[in-house]
Amino acid sequence: MPANPPTAQQQLVLSRIRHVTQESNVESKAPFRDFCDFGTRAQCGNSACSSVHLLHLITQSTDPQLGDCSYLNTCHRINDGCKYLHYEIDPQEHLSHDLEYKHPVPLFTPLPPPQWLECDVRKLDLALLGSDYSVIMADPPWDIHMQLPYGTLTDDEMIQLNLHRNQKEGGFLFLWVTGRAMELARLCLEMWGYKRVDEIVWIKVNQLQRVIRTGRTGHWLNHAKEHCIVAVKGSGPHNYNPGIDSDIIVAEVRETSRKPDEIYNLIERLCPGGKKLEIFGRKHNTRPGWLTLGNQLGGSYIHDDDLKKKLNG
Ligand code: SAH
Repeated sequence: MPANPPTAQQQLVLSRIRHVTQESNVESKAPFRDFCDFGTRAQCGNSACSSVHLLHLITQSTDPQLGDCSYLNTCHRINDGCKYLHYEIDPQEHLSHDLEYKHPVPLFTPLPPPQWLECDVRKLDLALLGSDYSVIMADPPWDIHMQLPYGTLTDDEMIQLNLHRNQKEGGFLFLWVTGRAMELARLCLEMWGYKRVDEIVWIKVNQLQRVIRTGRTGHWLNHAKEHCIVAVKGSGPHNYNPGIDSDIIVAEVRETSRKPDEIYNLIERLCPGGKKLEIFGRKHNTRPGWLTLGNQLGGSYIHDDDLKKKLNG
């Protein structure tokens, strides 16, 4: 697996959530603590403030009078010449575990190791992959009339993707859309036999967990959000946990097109343990319980013998 450094928010959540035991299926977690609006403890000045604080990251090149670096933790020159201020989470922030929260439905099911298949999705017979996926997620290279660092699929090629065969008995589809694909996706859903039931909005924040103002896309307005349509085939998978997560993800922006890891936890809580298929994923998207397809995976790894035979046969 490639190194997948956690975002600042993920580090915070990770240190806050303690998985008591896999066997007892009990999760305990402390209450959510927000980032302090003042940033550092010194600027906050309130010794009783229970929010999480940041520390200034001062290197030999830092000139604190210049203010914050626009790129913050994504700056490629943090340790190598950037003059502006950067931050890290204050290691003094002890994260308490005094309040316990027990989920009514077991959320932690052992998952098989990740599998991935490098392929041109247009040429693969998706039916070979099986018909019982509880969840499919796709972040397609829609032809949105923009310069992208990878090839796109025409509208017809998208419509012809027969993903519904992978969810014969029903399931969830998480479909990322942007620009003109917001409309095109609705047509695809109709052709594939899915019904749109929800839409997740990813609010893009920077390292300080503040909403991005200067989006990288958007002609009339700067885009600071993305959309993931949630659709169902039939009445959805056999077993799922409704009503755990909200339809908003607030997460840090990373590389071009990269989606927030938070989506995987949301899906796992919705459908613990079910078989999952990601179409148009990259190596950092591979996850336990998921089969990932894409043309930038740099190879394949399939451990399921049946699937191996079908793909080789
Ligand atoms: N969700 C991903 C980004 C997906 S971008 C993330 O979080 O990082 C779309 C991906 O689809 C790119 O990796 C692109 O190379 C891939 N792709 C484009 N055409 C493809 C094709 N015909 N078959 C398989 N993958 C394709």
